Amino acid sequence: MVRLYQISTALMFCVLFATQALGSFVFSSSERGNIEIKWNRRVIRVAVSSSVSDTAPNIKKGSNVSEAIKRSLITWERELGVRFQIVSSDTANVSPQGNSGDGISLITAAPTAENLQIFGENAQNLPAMTRIFFDRRGRITEADIVLNPIFQFSTDGSFGTFDLESVLVHEIGHLLGLDHPPISAGVMSSQVARNGLYGMEQTSGRQLSFADLAQLRSVYGNTDRSVECCAEIKGTVTGNERIAKGNVIWLEDAETGRIAGSASVGARGEFSVKGLSSGLYSIYLRTNGEEGSVTDEFVDTIDLTPGESFSMEIVPQNVFAVNTLEFIGAMGQMSNAPVQADPGGELMLLLAGRVEKRSFTIGSSSPYLTIQNDTAIDQNLSERLGMITVGLRIADDIPVGHYSIFIRSSDGSRSYLPGSIVVTGSRETPLLQTLLKN
Ligand SMILES: [Zn+2]
Repeated sequence: MVRLYQISTALMFCVLFATQALGSFVFSSSERGNIEIKWNRRVIRVAVSSSVSDTAPNIKKGSNVSEAIKRSLITWERELGVRFQIVSSDTANVSPQGNSGDGISLITAAPTAENLQIFGENAQNLPAMTRIFFDRRGRITEADIVLNPIFQFSTDGSFGTFDLESVLVHEIGHLLGLDHPPISAGVMSSQVARNGLYGMEQTSGRQLSFADLAQLRSVYGNTDRSVECCAEIKGTVTGNERIAKGNVIWLEDAETGRIAGSASVGARGEFSVKGLSSGLYSIYLRTNGEEGSVTDEFVDTIDLTPGESFSMEIVPQNVFAVNTLEFIGAMGQMSNAPVQADPGGELMLLLAGRVEKRSFTIGSSSPYLTIQNDTAIDQNLSERLGMITVGLRIADDIPVGHYSIFIRSSDGSRSYLPGSIVVTGSRETPLLQTLLKN
């Protein structure tokens, strides 16, 4: 009884944190339509406004701003086969919306009216934005990044601030023409967390994930000769009731359980995930039910050969998950940002969602993650939300990547939190070595 009481008291402090939506993508010029938006240059010049420094009111004093900028560009450059050239600039303002800008791709943090205007009604919500100009053939001619002057950034993990490098890596992804993927499993996730969430520095957004690389390669091709790329999984989801809005196909590397990519299902049921390296993939279909319930259905495992374009038709089973996961957390906090896990470590995971039928199992499709279901505690957070506390053990040899947790109901239906566990590598050393080489 005493034990239970202590747990209940701890649960009272659980707070649901909304993460911040991150830097949507604003197109200038014409609408995107069906053309592919990309750079067609070998060198992209990026002008850094003098406002982006640790003297800016929204950047913590003493931050290593120039290194954060360099590292965020190198992170993409290494995979891109394009070189970034960094120049300093006295320009403070983002180019206004129109058919063309000033031709200078700018990173700015200046608190000017023009820069605030880009956020529109979302000035209180978005830490950064990128505006892209492109020509009729989809070739990007300019992309400007604005760090929202009303948010605080730092490079040292300071509590309550955003990690400058992670936000820049995300916005540079937009600068390159990339969009938010439907399943968040990497730097192009539409959400960003402040430092201090789950009691951790939120720096996992500094490293590209496998899903980010697939997205990049689907647009720019592959420059890494050690990777056999690029294959595609495409097809159609049939069955009227399942071709609803917001359905998604997502892929796991079948051997590790890491998220490998995702794509939205179109209005006629069509989908395509490109930029994949060869290997074995597990395919899942995510469908939306009533009141935000989400069902993830395992479809098949496919062995992709280099350059293959695998075509498939998916006929969904009409099973809807009784129990659905919506939030994950640790240290008394929950949100939709991934929990960072260390190889060889253990965590008390918090999970929340619609838990209607009390017979369920929490699991992961990764052999590197072990869930201790025998110690699971299940409680009501509100009328709608149930919360589950469960132990998670992480294998010593778990590879870097984004992993998933699921809830399986007694009827076999599943709901996943894809990519909700992130394992990062020792990021400092390799990046610094790259900097010295450059
Ligand atoms: Zn964004």
